Amino acid sequence: MGTPIPEATLGELVKVGRDLYQLGMVSSRGGNLSIRDGHSMWITGTGTALGHLRQLDISHAFTDGGHDPPPPSSDTILHWTIYATTNAGAIAHAHPRHAIALSYDRDVFNPEDLEGQMHIPVVPVVERGALQEEKIANSLRDSCVALLRGHGAYARGASLWEALHWLTALEESAHIALLRQAINRS
Ligand SMILES: [Zn+2]
Repeated sequence: MGTPIPEATLGELVKVGRDLYQLGMVSSRGGNLSIRDGHSMWITGTGTALGHLRQLDISHAFTDGGHDPPPPSSDTILHWTIYATTNAGAIAHAHPRHAIALSYDRDVFNPEDLEGQMHIPVVPVVERGALQEEKIANSLRDSCVALLRGHGAYARGASLWEALHWLTALEESAHIALLRQAINRS
């Protein structure tokens, strides 16, 4: 067995995962989370239920590509790319439905509400396909949260709690923007 996960790290993963699931930001087996730990990271295993994470669901992954069981998230290379490109201490990926709906027809989302304008004024939208990892990581240099078109959002923070804040702020602004569009059409 490798290094045991620090209790505080596990606690943060469990609580933020539960929040994301209970907020409807991920399906029962969607999304992923990681926390950086020196030259390694603790990342949710592939296909794990974020709403019900246990110690055995968390993989310890290393920069050389190695990991302790279970198999880490399929987004592990992306998480490494983001850590190499930004000063993130943690990364959260979720599928906020209003934000995804808005991601199809624009290259950037500019929130219209005051909170969004203050905290996440420019949210880049990245196209799926070649160099997707590099594009997402580069967009997270300037913004704390970015959208992958038609898929979901990636947020980085000093902690997972901060990343959760950016995801929830994005979804709140996206929901407001869509409600305004609906009212303006009626
Ligand atoms: Zn996803």
